[in-house]
Formats: sequence, C-alpha cells, structure tokens
Amino acid sequence: MDREQFRKAGYAAVDRICDYFENLESYDVVPKVQPGDIARLIADEAPQEGEPWENISKDFDRVILPGITHWQHPNFYAYFPANTTYECILADMYAGAVSNPGFNWLCSPACTELESKATDWVAKLHGLDDTWQNEGKVGGGVINGSASESCLTVCIAARERYLRLHPNTPFAELVIVATTQTHSLAAKAALILGIEFVAIETKEEDDWALRGDGLRTALEEIEGQGKKPFILIATLGSTSTGAVDKFGEITAVTADYPSLFLHIDAAWGGVFLSLPECHDETFLSAINARAPQSADDVGEGAICAGGEVHSISSNLHKSGLVTFDANCLWIRDRALLTSALDVTPPFLRTAQASAGLVTDYRNMSISLGRRFRSLKIWFALRSYGVTGFQKHLRQLISRAEVFERALLDADKGVPGVVLFTPRRFSLVVFRVVSLAAATPRSDTPDAVAARLERENALNASVVRHANEDSSLMLTPTTVGGKNCVRIAIGSPNTEDRHVLDLVEKIRRLVDRAREEVGDSKQL
Ligand SMILES: *Cc1c(COP(=O)(O)O)cnc(C)c1O
Repeated sequence: MDREQFRKAGYAAVDRICDYFENLESYDVVPKVQPGDIARLIADEAPQEGEPWENISKDFDRVILPGITHWQHPNFYAYFPANTTYECILADMYAGAVSNPGFNWLCSPACTELESKATDWVAKLHGLDDTWQNEGKVGGGVINGSASESCLTVCIAARERYLRLHPNTPFAELVIVATTQTHSLAAKAALILGIEFVAIETKEEDDWALRGDGLRTALEEIEGQGKKPFILIATLGSTSTGAVDKFGEITAVTADYPSLFLHIDAAWGGVFLSLPECHDETFLSAINARAPQSADDVGEGAICAGGEVHSISSNLHKSGLVTFDANCLWIRDRALLTSALDVTPPFLRTAQASAGLVTDYRNMSISLGRRFRSLKIWFALRSYGVTGFQKHLRQLISRAEVFERALLDADKGVPGVVLFTPRRFSLVVFRVVSLAAATPRSDTPDAVAARLERENALNASVVRHANEDSSLMLTPTTVGGKNCVRIAIGSPNTEDRHVLDLVEKIRRLVDRAREEVGDSKQL
C-alpha cells in the first residue's frame, strides 16, 4: 500500500467505523457462531502474493464482524465494561504511525515523558496524592497492558524487597496472599513465579470484603506454618460482587508486618476513585495514608514502610473511556520496581538515565518494548476533561440505580429477586429466590440444602436462557456456594430505556426459570 492508497483506505475505514457505531444496536450482542466457524473462513497460510486492499478490507465485514461479541453494545452486561472512544481510536492511529517501542527515554522521549505526565494526570483524577506521582520523584506511575501484568510486576518487586530485608529466605517458604474474592491474577502471578498462593476466606456478612481481624488471623496462621508472606493483594471492586476490602483495617494490621508489601488491585473499581462522592466507600484516605518510617525501614533496599499501601493499579480500559489496553500502575517508591527489574546491558545505557534525569520505562515493567498507550489517555482526558469523565461515571452509576430500582420495585419489580450484595458503582448482583412458602420444617438442614439447590438452579437457568437470547449478554457468579446473576453496566451507549427493557427480559426469564425448576410463580 502506498501513501495515496493509505489516504483513501484510511478515510474509508473511518467511514466504516462510524457506520459500525451508527448500527451498533442492530447487531446481536453475542454472535451466532459455533467454535471453528470463523477459523474456517480464514486461509490456512499467508498468501504467496499480496492481495488488493479492497479484498482485505471487505473481509472485516465478511469474516470478522460475524464473529465479534459486541462489548460496546448497549445491552452488553457481561464480565466488565471495555469502553472505547473516538479519541482513543485516533490515538491508536497516530501511535501506529510513529510505532515507538518506548523502552528508554532516548528511543522515545515523547512516549516516556507523556507516560509520566499521563499517569500523574490519572493519579490526580483518582485522588491519589503526590506521593503516587512522578512529579515527587520517588513514587510514580507506569502504564501496562493489563492488571494481571501489573500484579505480576509488583509481585516481583515485593519478592526482591522481601529478599533484601531477609536475605537467604528459601524460595519454598515464600507465599503470595490474597482472598477468595481476589481476581485470578493473584493465583496466576504465583503460578508464573513458582511461589505458593494462599487465599483468605472472606465472609458474606462483610459483603465479601477482607477485614483486619480476618487478615491478622490468617497471617498468624501462615507464619505459624513457617511460611513467609511477602505480598498481600487486596481488591478495590472485586470481579464477582464489587467488594472493596477495608484498607484502613488492613494497613492497621500490616503495620505489624513491615516486610509485607501491600498491592491494591483496583482494575475495575479504580476509576470510581475519580468521583469525590465515592471516596469514603473506596477508603481513599487509607490508600493515601503514610506510615511513619521506623528505624528498620531505613537502609539499603528496605524501602517503604509496613502499614501503608505500596502500589495500586486501575484499568482505564474498563469504565475509564480509554480503549483497550491501558492499565495504570502506581507505586510509592519507583526504586522498588527498578531495583528488581533493571538489568540494563551496556548497549542500553544512556547518559541521561545514568545522570538520573529520565525514566527508562523498561526498568519498571516486564517487557522491553511497550505500546505507546499514554497517547490514548492524554487524548481522552483532554477531550472529556475531568468534568466529562466524572459525568460518564455518574451516568453509569445512575443507569445501575435505575435498573436496581425497577428490578426491586415492590409493585412493578420482578417478584422473588433480592440483591445479593449492595450495588457497587455500576454493578448489580442479584439472586432469584424460591417463592415456595416456608413451613415449620423448612429450617431443617436437609430443607435448607434443598432450598439452596433449588435457588441455585433458578439462577443458573436465568443466566443460561438469557444468553440463548443473543440480544443481550450477562455473566453469572457463584459466591459462598450461591449462584447469582451479575449485571455490569458500563457502555456509554447504554441508556435508561435499555436497562428498563432488561428488567422486562429478566421478568420473563425468572418466570421461565420457576417453571423449569418447579418453583411457584406467586408469593
Ligand atoms: C478485570 C479485572 C482484572 C483483570 O484485568 P486485566 O487487565 O485483564 O488483567 C483483575 N482484577 C479485577 C478486579 C478485574 O475487574
């Protein structure tokens, strides 16, 4: 393709993209394809001779779109949101044009400096104080591809920190600690690093959040077994129910465990830190609080005190208006990353880095080359402004409130539906309960177990049939042995009429589930 062909093809692509958004609602959310259907449309090897662009571009419609699950669709309520914006689509085009690997300052000065600025912007937007910002020269941010990558990266930093504090600790004694509600990224990091993983049970009465007493008991137990917990991965907005661990209670405990690194996975919930009205429920003041540095913490390699949050990561590519992928990771002390990850060979040394003037991002992340992601964040935040960004988040919350109210309305709502946990931001997790009347014998263990089984079947049926209807998509979750239905609202394209329509669909699905499971339809 030459430049003039690109010019034409580029304009046509933008037109095609606009048509896509224009017609988004007419697509099925979930494509009607079977495994292998798309692969069969794709040649088994690259063509020997190049093909005309016209044929290639047509195949986006013929081959790709029929196999796309439309995450931007207003009726997409599954997993978590994956926002995209025109600003970011354009940013990806520009980033594609300069194709900079950004591994050190000299190879990509603008990528490096914009990344430092963009992570500071987002830190400020999230209410993270200056100790998290590059401006302060100690802490700072880095943009990774995913929360999983950030989690793995801080696990390495935490391991090296622990080994500096306690040299010669046998690898087999090290443990990564999380909770049963932590995303699988923690177990995966443990798997990759070949380190044992321990998940602390959380409780229904705490809305599945980790609390101080539970943490203390678990740490005592782990240490009692001669094991060395070196990192705790807490969560701000769990995937299943949006649980927010009690960070203030947690840091009160970790103050007694100064070798324990504390990371917060705020992959989904982090962006809601951008709303002042959410600061209490996200424990922002505990996230920002510093622990007094004790004598033990000072000295080479013993950086960051116990009793404070050491790192936090937030996915702007979920509800944050930035096209996949853009995970911001902030760390209280950048040296924790660079001392663990800097393997700079002579040919990568630069005078600027040696003089301490610049950040070489390869020393704060796993890969050498990296995508120019900060451009997307910069474009989106400038175009929306803080006000527009907050308005988007408030709109998501408001849609979830409208849905919740309509679903639970005493007169017009869906009978026999209860919230499983309180709504968190724009996530509503509910449960269909049995309408069979309670009898004097319904609290025997057998009757309780039978009721649980019936209710689990009801909820499973709702999700199964919901997903047979390709006009919407939702995902189930099971917490504490109870099957639930999750509604994750997050598309900027979702309007009140969509969530009200969803309530009507749920009403029909619940009726059908009661018939299927043999539960009475009325109270
Ligand atoms: C989505 C999510 C993740 C995974 O995010 P990736 O960026 O895909 O790794 C991790 N934790 C939580 C709480 C999430 O919601």
